[in-house]
Amino acid sequence: MTETTFTPRVFSGIKPSGGLTLGNYLGAIKRFVGMQGGAFETVYCVVDLHAITVWQDPAELRTATREVAAGYLASGIDPEQSILFNQSQVSQHAELGWIFNCVARVGWMNRMTQFKEKAGKNAEKQSLGLYAYPSLMAADILLYHATHVPVGEDQKQHVELTRDIAAKFNHDYKVDFFPLTTPVIEGPAMRVMNLRDGTKKMSKSGESDMERINMLDDADTIAKKFKKAKTDPEPLPETLDGLADRPEARNLVDIYAALTDQSPEAVIAEYEGAGWGRFKPALADLAVEKLGPISTEMKRLMDDPAEIDRTLARGAERARAIAAPILEQTYDIVGMLRG
Ligand code: ATP
Ligand code: MG
Repeated sequence: MTETTFTPRVFSGIKPSGGLTLGNYLGAIKRFVGMQGGAFETVYCVVDLHAITVWQDPAELRTATREVAAGYLASGIDPEQSILFNQSQVSQHAELGWIFNCVARVGWMNRMTQFKEKAGKNAEKQSLGLYAYPSLMAADILLYHATHVPVGEDQKQHVELTRDIAAKFNHDYKVDFFPLTTPVIEGPAMRVMNLRDGTKKMSKSGESDMERINMLDDADTIAKKFKKAKTDPEPLPETLDGLADRPEARNLVDIYAALTDQSPEAVIAEYEGAGWGRFKPALADLAVEKLGPISTEMKRLMDDPAEIDRTLARGAERARAIAAPILEQTYDIVGMLRG
């Protein structure tokens, strides 16, 4: 079989499952902006169908959907250069998701660590959607024949599953139709940790507000959260190796590095020997300097929800123009009569 060449195209998404965090900004949005306008077509999504895998109040979901859109726009996603839309407006996602539910194996899904973490001891009481969501995520990506997916480290396993689904589909139907998508997971912020527990990642849906920095937090709140962030009593070491067993300290250094586009080594070189009384206020000032203008712009955009809605609707139209023919070809390959 000859190898198909796919248009270099990026797809990624964020769930409107709560307010955006510094983890979403550094691990996702900032990197999405970085991939815009270069070698790739860029498609960015507010994945609202994924949000309802856990209960969402309908009014809050609408607000959160607009907030994620505002976060993208305020951070520099240009809705002309990129395609920006919310998932439920492009019904092809759910349709391809169903086909992939019939390709993915139960055994594969049982290996997904994120379901185990999110479900905890209550797996029986979770929605079927939460269990199946990585298959819908594969559809999100492959509906655009995306070749690259920038994500945080927590999504690595789901992108690998996406590759497995693409490979099995191509094999079962003897086609070379779906690309084997490459996950792009890089930089010091690929896994921003929870400020109260350096072994858990920072999440929108985490229990306590003190464990995360929200993109809409004001300067005082950001300062307070960093001040109260868990650390150890030691000052910053001479080299990065000295942070090997200090996850909370390493996290704050990584956040500083990501905010200033430096390596963690460079941050250590600058702050070697510094105590937390010096480092934490410097980090807080830096975060306020970087997030302040973005949150001001987010609030401005959210004051005009109708404009956000129009932007998303236009994006959805452009997304459908790519997605609809790919879904039709998929139906054809699978053997569906489409009139
Ligand atoms: P939830 O708690 O509802 O799952 P979340 O904060 O994990 O929310 P998602 O919408 O699941 O956010 O993920 C959106 C993107 O942000 C993904 O690419 C994910 O890898 C990335 N991301 C999420 N949290 C972090 C983090 N702590 N560090 C780096 N990247 C992150
Ligand atoms: Mg998540």
